[in-house]
Amino acid sequence: MPTKKPAAVKKLTIKKAGATKKKASTKTTSSKDDVGLPLSVVIRRRIEAQKARFHANDNIAAFIQPGELEGLVDEVAEKMQAVLESLVIDTENDHNTKNTSRRVAKMYVQEVFNGRYVEQPTLTKFPNVSRLNELMIIGPITVRSACSHHLCPIMGRIWIGVLPSKESALIGLSKYSRLTEWVMCRPQIQEEAVVELADMLEKKIKPIGVAVVMDADHFCMQWRGVKDRDSKMINSVMRGAFLKDSNLRREFLALIDRK
Ligand SMILES: [Zn+2]
Repeated sequence: MPTKKPAAVKKLTIKKAGATKKKASTKTTSSKDDVGLPLSVVIRRRIEAQKARFHANDNIAAFIQPGELEGLVDEVAEKMQAVLESLVIDTENDHNTKNTSRRVAKMYVQEVFNGRYVEQPTLTKFPNVSRLNELMIIGPITVRSACSHHLCPIMGRIWIGVLPSKESALIGLSKYSRLTEWVMCRPQIQEEAVVELADMLEKKIKPIGVAVVMDADHFCMQWRGVKDRDSKMINSVMRGAFLKDSNLRREFLALIDRK
C-alpha cells in the first residue's frame, strides 16, 4: 500500500520511457534525467557520478538534498510493505502489522541507520592550552548498531584511549559519544567499525596515539544461527604510541573495566 505523499514536482513525475505507473513515493529532483525515477535511484546516480562508494557503512549525506529523507522513508515503507506481503502477513486485518512497514522504514532511515544519511556531528575543538599529554580514557560508550550481513542488532560498548600531543586539538567529552553513534548507526561489521572510528579520531585530534576497544553482543549469533547466547566479539585498534609503547597499551587495557 503506497503511502500518499505529495510529490514536490508532481507534474514532472509522469511519463519518461518505461517509468509509467509508480506514483506517490517516487520523488524527483529538478534534473530532467531523473524524472519519474525512485528517489533512491536519483541519489544513487549522484553518488555514481562522483565515483563515490555507498556500502552499507558509508555515509552518503553529501548526496542527499534537504527534505529528501522523508521521501526515502516513503520509498522504504512501500518496499517494506511488499516484504510483509511476501511473508504472507495479512497487514490489512492484523492491527499489529498495519503500519509496520512505515514504522520499520522510519526506524531504518531516521534512527538505526541514520548515520548513513546525516552529516558528521560538528565538533567543537579546543586548543590543548594546558598542553596535556597524559593518557585520557573515554568510556564505556554504549554502542547500538546492526550487522551488515543480517541487519541484526549489535549491542555493545566502546572505550577510547587518547594520548594527546601538545599540538592536539581536544574535543569535548560528549563528542566522543556523538562521533561513535554516528559511525555505529549504520549496518556495520565490527572489525571495520572500530577502524573507521580510530581513523576519524586520528584525523580530528591528531594525537600521539589513539586506541579503540569494542566488545559487543551480536544478535545474529544469539537470535539466529548458532544461537549462542554468551558469545561476544571483542576488537581493539591501537595506533601510534599505543602500538609502539607496550606500557601505555597495558595501562590503557588495565584501566578500562570491561566487566
Ligand atoms: Zn549478522
